[in-house]
Amino acid sequence: MLKTILSSTSDFCLTFLNLLYPQDCLVCSGRAHELKPTPLCEPCNDRIMAFVGSPHWATAERELAFDAAYHVASYEDIVKRCICLFKYEGKTRLSKVLGSVMVEYAARNLNFGSIDMIVPVPLHPVKLRERQFNQSELIAEHLAKKFNKKIEKDWLKRIRYTSPQAGLSREQRLRNIKGAFLVKRDAGFTGRSILLVDDVMTTGATLHECAKTIKAAGAKKVLAYTLACGN
Ligand SMILES: [Zn+2]
Repeated sequence: MLKTILSSTSDFCLTFLNLLYPQDCLVCSGRAHELKPTPLCEPCNDRIMAFVGSPHWATAERELAFDAAYHVASYEDIVKRCICLFKYEGKTRLSKVLGSVMVEYAARNLNFGSIDMIVPVPLHPVKLRERQFNQSELIAEHLAKKFNKKIEKDWLKRIRYTSPQAGLSREQRLRNIKGAFLVKRDAGFTGRSILLVDDVMTTGATLHECAKTIKAAGAKKVLAYTLACGN
């Protein structure tokens, strides 16, 4: 009850503040919604939400360790702009919008009934300190909440600091990321089906390495789900 009152009070305050100091849309600088504290204007919000209707998926290639990979949109245009703002410019307010896009897409196109838990792709502690948040974790939290799934944020750890994957070939990416992850000793992946969540999939090298590590720890199935796919 108290939580509900506090939440409506805080919504009211945000609406009031937004009326006094309206925010510009982070993408097009147009005026964002006047009554709702949202980071995007209505046309930009509609543009990004339009992706939820068209299903995209790829069955994993034989040499990749995950069983299937799903994504909402190509890594271009407004999706790329939002991910860059979110990840590199610290506009974490966008996590709600991006998380909602992934929730809506999954609700319409995917069946996560057999999934036991959600695992966000971890960042190396040094990277996490630099960025101060893990974008995959923020998105995965929305999915976990909506689909009522457990989220395990520290069962999979990134133990090796790798150079950026951008600009590398597929083979170089696979080599660069090899051995970068480790499963926590008392993690319970045995016999479980896992949904691995990340913001972008390029060649699938990072998701492959995570899936390989999780499967070596006993997981039965690993599905990968990203907001975007592409370079
Ligand atoms: Zn806009």
